[in-house]
Amino acid sequence: MKTVILTLCQWFGLFSLAKKMTARRPRILCYHGISVDDEYQFSPGVFMRSSTFARRMALLAKWGYKPVSLDELYRQNQAGQYGKNTLVVTIDDGWAAIEHGMLPALKKYNFNATLYLSSYFVINQRPVFKLSCYYLFWKYQGPFTLAANSCLTPYTRLQQLTVNDVLALAAELGSAYEQPILAELAAYFGEDLASWQHSGKLMFLTPEKVTALAARGLAIELHTHRHKFSELNLTDAQTELINNQRYITQLTGKKAQHFCFPRGEYQQQQLDLLTQQQLKTATTTENELVSKHDHLLTLPRLVDNDKVSDLEFEAELTGVMTLLRSATSLLKRGG
Ligand SMILES: [Zn+2]
Repeated sequence: MKTVILTLCQWFGLFSLAKKMTARRPRILCYHGISVDDEYQFSPGVFMRSSTFARRMALLAKWGYKPVSLDELYRQNQAGQYGKNTLVVTIDDGWAAIEHGMLPALKKYNFNATLYLSSYFVINQRPVFKLSCYYLFWKYQGPFTLAANSCLTPYTRLQQLTVNDVLALAAELGSAYEQPILAELAAYFGEDLASWQHSGKLMFLTPEKVTALAARGLAIELHTHRHKFSELNLTDAQTELINNQRYITQLTGKKAQHFCFPRGEYQQQQLDLLTQQQLKTATTTENELVSKHDHLLTLPRLVDNDKVSDLEFEAELTGVMTLLRSATSLLKRGG
């Protein structure tokens, strides 16, 4: 149904009309990681195929977009008016496979891009624990039967564990148990963790890679150290920002000035922390174009995903979806 409506909109010239009407509303695109195996089927929002990403960048180039930095977006805001067709490419988290899966396409068109980096799994080079557990249980679709010599045996009476049982136990035992638990799970289900390390599957960039990517022009900005923010009190949230800032400065030699809320979530009183840290912008995952009325510390983004078709992508980019959304909300209010 959506495809039919969008095709009709395109047919009647609404795409180009919407693009003109919304030309001064910046687009901030949001990406995450790249799939090295079947992760795009497990979580298409977090792991896009590199072919999908390359196609999207080719479309941006074809449509005449020239992605700029967040500093440029900020400059335009301070100058009192956003420029026409301003577009920013942002990449969240710091997944290892973005190096081979995103950088070539960005370089091909000489596009600016920003990586919002969570530093914990850069410093601690092991697969991201929670997501790896969900991935293994998704892939093998069965419970995990504990071996007699399992590191979990002393802490549970259960013989067969679901993913939630494993995560609850891991949370109780602390992060030192995460890698031993994951090693047991991988061995049980028949996955080779050494090959994950090699391919970068469910891994973050190494510190050396972050430094190298920054030197190649990728802007490295803040995303908290442990990917935690909205759930924390003000003191802990501030510590997350400060630690993240410290690691980024160590790796890049630069002070980060832009922030992305982990999972896009925040508490209103946390915005003061960002002002105290003298941050220029912060982004959420509210799916929308930027408006001149938006607060610089809660900027929306267009969240791309491997399941989004090129037609849907174009509908978001041109602003057709924005116009359809505002029409729907007007109708709802009217009714
Ligand atoms: Zn994130």
